Amino acid sequence: MRWWLLLVAKLALLGALHLALILAVNHFFPQDRMGKDLDYTFWLLAAHILVFLVGYALWIDQRYRCRSCCSRLRMPLAEGNWSRAVLFAPPKLEWICPHGHGAMRQEEFKIGGGKPDVWTENEKDFWKAFEDAWRKN
Ligand SMILES: [Zn+2]
Repeated sequence: MRWWLLLVAKLALLGALHLALILAVNHFFPQDRMGKDLDYTFWLLAAHILVFLVGYALWIDQRYRCRSCCSRLRMPLAEGNWSRAVLFAPPKLEWICPHGHGAMRQEEFKIGGGKPDVWTENEKDFWKAFEDAWRKN
């Protein structure tokens, strides 16, 4: 729930930034100049590109946040193998929440779009995600 609230807050911030930039551009130039005045068109394009870049940075930040507590995910663990990428063990990265809420598995081999990130929420036991690493085979 906190993750969604943070996303909505970021989108509201982005919308406010977009509106402020458009109002600023329109404040300095007379109305109805799109396509007629190169300066106006350039600054409007620059405002849109800036909003896009800020939105992309906000989305990348949001993507690597815990779905429960919104902390930054940490400790990327590489799995798989690039030389066997197609058939046996496609390379993946697993990120974990520092507070133990869960882990995000991210495919690194993205031909054809790849698979979306998978968030796995832990049960209440913080160390449960690491139990397999402690077992001896
Ligand atoms: Zn967390």
